[in-house]
Order: sequence, then structure tokens, then C-alpha cells
Amino acid sequence: ALCARANKLGREDVIQIKGEVNERESKNKNLPTGEIEIIVSELTVLNASATPPFTIEDNTDGGDDIRMKYRYLDLRRACVRKNLELRHQMTMEVRRYLDSKGFLEIETPMLIGSTPEGARDFVVPSRMNPGQFYALPQSPQTLKQLLMVAGMDRYFQIVKCFRDEDLRADRQPEFTQIDCEMSFVEQEDVIALFEGMAKHLFRTIRGIELTEPFPRMPWSEAMRLYGSDKPGTRFGMEFVELMDVLKGTGEFSVFNDASYIGGICAPGCASYTRKQLDQLTDFVKRSQIGAKGLVYARVQEDGSVKSSVDKFYTQEVLLRLKETMKAVPGDLILIMSGEDVMKTRKQLCELRLEMGTRLGLRDKNKFVCLWVVDFPMFEWSDEEGRLMAMHHPFTHPKDEDIPLLDSDTGAVRANAYDMVINGVEVGGGSIRIHDSKLQDKMFQLLGFTEEKAQERFGFLMNAFKYGAPPHGGLAYGLDRWVSLFAGLDSIRDCIAFPKNNSGRDVMLDAPGQLDDSQLEELCLKVDIKE
Ligand code: ASP
Repeated sequence: ALCARANKLGREDVIQIKGEVNERESKNKNLPTGEIEIIVSELTVLNASATPPFTIEDNTDGGDDIRMKYRYLDLRRACVRKNLELRHQMTMEVRRYLDSKGFLEIETPMLIGSTPEGARDFVVPSRMNPGQFYALPQSPQTLKQLLMVAGMDRYFQIVKCFRDEDLRADRQPEFTQIDCEMSFVEQEDVIALFEGMAKHLFRTIRGIELTEPFPRMPWSEAMRLYGSDKPGTRFGMEFVELMDVLKGTGEFSVFNDASYIGGICAPGCASYTRKQLDQLTDFVKRSQIGAKGLVYARVQEDGSVKSSVDKFYTQEVLLRLKETMKAVPGDLILIMSGEDVMKTRKQLCELRLEMGTRLGLRDKNKFVCLWVVDFPMFEWSDEEGRLMAMHHPFTHPKDEDIPLLDSDTGAVRANAYDMVINGVEVGGGSIRIHDSKLQDKMFQLLGFTEEKAQERFGFLMNAFKYGAPPHGGLAYGLDRWVSLFAGLDSIRDCIAFPKNNSGRDVMLDAPGQLDDSQLEELCLKVDIKE
């Protein structure tokens, strides 16, 4: 009878058994319980399970949508569970490290006013203050600065942040930061402490001993060589500027009209077929990349160059191209050009990364860490029609560049730094302004009127009047760290209950509408324009 009942058990039933534990004859070392067996004498079904909508195994037949809808079943799969275990281990190590360095973990509120970090705010209506709204923090930036004014000296918090922006594989509308701030520090102090934390995590979690200091790369060089402020440096294939070689040296009008011409050299790819080259051209023409085309040149075995623009250039020019690119026989030179320098570099960056993938140069088990430093203080926003702070408005300009605030804002560099691992920005921070006059000036340059600045940031400027210490800090993106260590393609997989690409929680079916009575209580009216 017991056997008959056991035979009827479903895979996800919750059962209780009593019996004798014996050593197994044919042991299976691959199972945690593979060395024992239980001779069952009593069997109780505590809760029978309905047939799950997909197989709960690492190799599942469930697509993305269905697994997200039944995320609690998805989480039963060992391969998903292990990401959450890793996440737990990492937060434990973060706390251990920061505690050992004298940091206090302090919570800051979730219902606050706007904290500009370059995204839109999520807002929450206040019932008790009709017509008024809280904003959820894009980060605890201003609050942690106030904690420095309060004399806390070393603060950290593993904290949810909220940003209403378009989603990508490495972005969620709510995400977790390891947020830190320190008083009486300069850039070098912050970098040293948080490089130490990165090394601690590599050692304790991945068993990797990183002994060398992480290299530093000025932002301008990152843009020039990789077309990105978060360059992936596991492989070279750096950009070579080709304006001197190709502009005005032939009849090719596309290059002759360009403000930027740059190339990369793909080793061993001269043998690419027409089809492969067409695929690359299609790749750069995709709407997300938006390039108009791609020019290529093959370096032949005899050292001559065969290109897609042969009819416009002499072999002499093409040989100069080969030399400038330091290309050797067997290499494929890929060239892009455009009228907007930054835009074209970004397009070439995508192509470089694609080639890195095709050539298998982006090994998930190889980690290359890097600090990008000397960011510009400002960037121009076409959308807003004004200067924006590249990091955030509380970032301190480099002392030697402060005089340029009045003459050449574009040249002002900031005491800001990002840590980049394998092309992922895993964190960033800056030394802050602690002087209310300089902060005033910064808001002015960013297009805030005095009243507006006072209205939004009066609390901070006021605090700076009461003996604010010099301070600075950084925030690491926990989700990105975990997915990097777990080798995941998306941060979603290391979050228990993530949102999909439209910002929806399909399991909870959120966001949703409010009842009329709720709207009324909040004095809100919904008015959706077609
Ligand atoms: N608040 C910044 C951010 O969220 C980090 C920092 O400057 O500490 O990116």
C-alpha cells in the first residue's frame, strides 16, 4: 500500500516520511543526499502540488514570461537559487569589510523629495498633504551628505534606489546600491578603501587574489580608445583615429565629409566571407546603433590591402592605413565614420564589443578591473537645453579647474571616479562640494534660479553653513556585482522578484489602477491623453 501511494506522488508534493536511514550501496556523489537512502515506514502527504506550469529543473521548458509569472516556482530551480545564495554571501562580506573599517550602517528614508541623479523620479502621493508628492530616492545622495554634516564620518547602507528610466539588461526600476560616504577624505582615500573592498570580494567570494593596484584611465582616453566611459578591457582592439590617413586623400565623399574616422583591427579575420561582412554591416546599421555603413580592408598574405573602398583610394593610401593600424597579413580592418565624433565613437564601440564576442575574447571567468577618472563636470543636454552635471550636481570640480567655471565649463573636470569591470560600471562616486558658495554657483551653472535652488536644495545649502567637513564617497551597484560574479547576462537573474522590460511585475500584475475611492482620497484624477 505504501508503494502504491509513493508511486502516485507528484514531483512538487510536500511530504513527510518516517523511516530508517541507511548507507547507500551505489552512491551518487552528484547529489547532496546521494550517499544515503531511507527505508520508509510511514508516508504523509502534507500538501499535494498542482502540476507546475513548467519543469522545475535547471534545464527547463519554461519561457521567460511564464517563469516570471510563477517566479516562486522558478526560484525552486537550483540554478536560480544559487544566485540568491551568492547575493547573500556578497552582502555578508560587504558588511564584514565595511564594519572592519569603522563604517556605520544607517538607514535613510524612502519617502523623500527629489534627489537628482539624472533620471525621472518615481513619486508617491501624500494623502495627508493633498496635491503633494514624495519622491522615492534615486539614491540617498543628499541624505548621506547630511550624515557627514552630522559627524557620522563613515556611513554605509545596502539600499534600494528607484529610477524611472528606460530599462536594459543591466537596469531595473528599483535596484540595490552599496552606498557609502566618508568625511575628511580626498579622492585617493576613497579609491583606496573601495578598491580594497573590491579585492576583498574577489578574494572571499571568487578565490581570486588581486595584488596589483587597479589601473586608472582618464575619461577622455576611455572615449578616444574605446568610445565608452566603461571600456571593456579584457581585450585590446583599441580605436585608431584615421582622419589624417583617409580624409581628403581619396574620392570617398563619406570620409571627406566626416568629423571622425576611426578603425579597429580584428586579428585573423581577413578571411571573413562576404556573408560575414554583410552581417557586420547589418549589425552596425541596426536601429539601436544607427550607423550608416561599414568600410573594411583585408590585409592579404602578400601584405597588400584589399578594401571595400578600393575604387576611391590608391594602394599607397591603403598601405598607409595598414601601417597606421599596425595591421599584419590576415587582419581585417573595420572602419566607421560620422559627423558627430561622440556618436560615431559609440557606434564603433558596439562593433568592437561585437567582434570581441565573435572572437571569444570576452571570457566570463576573466576579470579586468579599472578606474575611470577625470570625468568632465558637465555635459550638454539637447533634451533639456542646458548643461547637466555628468555625475551629479554635488560633485566637486578639480581644484585646478575651478577658475574655468567662469570661462570654459566644457573643460572643467570633476573629482569623480567610476569602477569598471569587464565593461560594466560596477560603481562610481565623487568628492563632494562642502562649501555653500561653490554649491550655489554649481546650481546656477546648471540653470537653477536662486529661488528654485533654494526650494529644492535649501536644506543642504543651509546644512553646509554649520561646519560641513570635506567629504566624498561612492556607491557600488550590488545587482551588477552579483551578476558579474555569477556570470549572468542580466541583473534580473540575481533579483528574487524582478520587473520585466516594461517595468512590470507580471507575478503581482503591478503597476495597476487605483479604485475610485482611493483616487478621491488622494485628490487625484487620471487623465490619459490618447
Ligand atoms: N549617488 C551616486 C550614484 O547613485 C553615487 C555617489 O556619488 O556616491 O551614482
